[in-house]
Parts: sequence; C-alpha cells; structure tokens
Amino acid sequence: MFNINNKIEDDKKIFNILKKEKKRQENQINLIASENYASKAILSAQGSIFTNKYAEGNINNRYYAGCKYIDEIEHLAISRAKKLFKVKYVNVQPHSGSQANFAAYFAVLKNGDKILGMKLSHGGHLTHGSSVNFSGRMYNFIYYETNKNGKIDYLQLEKLAIKHKPKMIVGGFSSYSRVCNWKKIRKIADKINAYFLVDISHIAGLIISGLYSNPIPHAHIITSTTHKTLSGPRGGIIMSNYNDEKLFKKIDSAVFPGTQGGPLMHAILAKAISFKEALSNNFKNYQIQIIKNINAMIKIFKKENFEIVFKKTSNHLFLLDLRKYYTTGIEIENCLSNANIIVNKNGIPNDTTNFLITSGIRIGSPAITRRGFKEKESTKISHWIIKIIKNKNNKNIINTIKRKVKILCKKYPIYK
Ligand SMILES: *Cc1c(COP(=O)(O)O)cnc(C)c1O
Repeated sequence: MFNINNKIEDDKKIFNILKKEKKRQENQINLIASENYASKAILSAQGSIFTNKYAEGNINNRYYAGCKYIDEIEHLAISRAKKLFKVKYVNVQPHSGSQANFAAYFAVLKNGDKILGMKLSHGGHLTHGSSVNFSGRMYNFIYYETNKNGKIDYLQLEKLAIKHKPKMIVGGFSSYSRVCNWKKIRKIADKINAYFLVDISHIAGLIISGLYSNPIPHAHIITSTTHKTLSGPRGGIIMSNYNDEKLFKKIDSAVFPGTQGGPLMHAILAKAISFKEALSNNFKNYQIQIIKNINAMIKIFKKENFEIVFKKTSNHLFLLDLRKYYTTGIEIENCLSNANIIVNKNGIPNDTTNFLITSGIRIGSPAITRRGFKEKESTKISHWIIKIIKNKNNKNIINTIKRKVKILCKKYPIYK
C-alpha cells in the first residue's frame, strides 16, 4: 500500500539490535513504574507515513499546506482526549512530559518567578524544579516534602505558600505512592492567587478509571505523559477544565511557537488510537488489575518486614528503603538485572547517597499487568526479589531465579 521497498531488515546492523531488544523485552520482567507496552496499533501508527508531514500551528491554522488529513487526525486526538479526561481544553502536541511542563510553565510564568513543587527526593520529578533541569534554572523553586507518616506535609506546604507567595503550585509525582488531597492544595493556591498545575504523568490511567483521586476538577492546568499507566505512545499532553479561554490560548502558543516546532504527527496519530483504547472497558479492567498486582506485591514485602518509604501504596508503585539490608539502589538494581528483573534505583527522603547510588528501588506494576501477570505471578516475583536482596552475593541463587523468570516470561508473551 505504501510502496516502501526499503525495510528495517535491510539494515542488518540495526535489525540485529532490534531483534535483541525484542528478546530482552520478552524475557525480562519489567517493574519500572513509568514504562509500559504499547499496542501493535500504536506501534504501527508511529511507523506510519504521518511521520512525513510538517504541520506547525494548530487545526485550520497551519504554516504549511497539505494539512487536510493531519487536521482530521489532530481533531480526533483532541476530541477523544476531551471525552476521556472530561476536559474543555486539550493540546496534544507536546513531544514528551517534560515538554508539556516546559510549555505550561512558559505559558503563565516569567523567568525567575517562584514555583512551589514537591521535592525530588520526596517523590517529585526533575521538571518540578531540579537544579539540573531547565525548571530549576529558569524558575525560583521552593519545595514541599512528605512527613514521617509518608504523606504530603500539607501544613508545611501551606506555610511555604503563604511565606513565599509563589505564582504556581505544582502537584504530581514520579515515586510518591499515597493519595493527594488536590482540593486542599487548590484552596491554598487560591489563598495566594497562584496557579495550580497537576502533572498526572504517572497516574493518568488510574485517574480516568476512577481508581485514584482526580485532580482535574481542582487544577488550572493538567500536564501528562501518554506512555506510562496510559500505555500509549511516548508523548505529552496539556489539558484544562478551568473556564479560561485566554489561558488555553496562552498554552497553545507556548507549545508552538513558544517551545516547539512541528508536532510529531505520527505520535499524535498514535495518541488518538491510545485514547480510544483507554475509553474501552478492557482498559478499566487492566487498571484495576494494576492495583491488585501492586497490592499483592507490597503485602509480601510488608510481611518480610521491609521498609516501605511512604508506608503504603494507593497507586501503581511503591518505594523500598534498602538501608536496613546494608545495600544501595544501584547494587540491587544490578543484582535483579542479573536475574532478568528490571527495576530502577530511586532516591528516598533524606537520602545520604547521591542520585547515581541511592538508598531505594522503585517497583511498579503497569508493565507486568499489561503482559497478563496476575496476583499469583506478582507474589512469586516479590519472593524472588526478596531472596535476591537477602542473597545479593550468591550467583547460584541469582542464576536459578533468572531461569525461573525466563520460563514465566515465555508463558506471557508481550506481543502475541
Ligand atoms: C515521566 C514524567 C515526566 C517526564 O516525561 P518525559 O516524557 O520523560 O519527558 C514529567 N513529569 C512526571 C511527574 C513524570 O513522572
């Protein structure tokens, strides 16, 4: 149909790497909380001829001719997202979650403005004010933290808000595992006349399935990725249900021409497909199983007296504090990887090591759930992880578990 004669297979070097990566994904258990497996339809959308088109601008208002079908696709993506998230305004052009945050800040703030965000080591994200990120360099960030009970310290948040009068409060996280009281934070934002932005990158899938507290009614601006619990293509999205046309216009022009050039139309095509997938009943059942699986896992770690960083989980992930076992995030990440179990090292509140070492690992259930694992398999994996942590120098134990992991993975192919 597309008369494409050259295929990936013709580039032998590349094709070999691709085959090895496919095998890796199939043979390894993926517990990275931010990863998922996109459907075949999404994969082919991203490899489609929509990759060829420049479409700077917005629907019916482009810098290039030939955008008739591009407009149809972007319109579909936006209207499906509006239905899915129940919002008035959507921009599907951000290339990634970071780009979505970049554009959202750029839309309403000036260089040097104050922002109050969650501290990285307490669950926040790099784009929420880390000094190595544009956000920490361009804006004047102040940070709220979690308390001893593992919850956001709302008293501290309010005190900081009143003392510093930031122009924006940022909610949302990458490794926090508890519920957020969005209403409470919005009230604080209103007291100081600040914007309330919530970055739902991790929890978008859970929110639209009604399984996690929904910030959309409380936030002025919502940003998200489309590839985490949502399981779409890698990409970003900005939304709002706040009745302010002027704000929507500012966001649109902050995305383009403010911070990006041409949109990735093949990714927008794939986003449109993923929004339809997420509107199905199957998707809700999938999200319910994500929660069941993470609870099956945390139960085993609690039984074995492991330190859970935020005490419990109300979403798809939890963070383990490894200090009790005289080890580090990097060491356990490596040991587990040797057994084909993939996690990421993660800083924890008041971590005394640096970000390359860390004192914790993050465990998430979206990817294993997607390939069909249920509570039984989740429980089994948890026992394997604990055995490896307790026997981190025993190569025989690690190799035995690796063989078991491969057998389990064979039973649950990702792409049938
Ligand atoms: C993953 C994530 C991002 C960044 O997404 P990218 O697509 O990797 O740029 C932003 N914010 C939060 C809270 C995230 O978890």
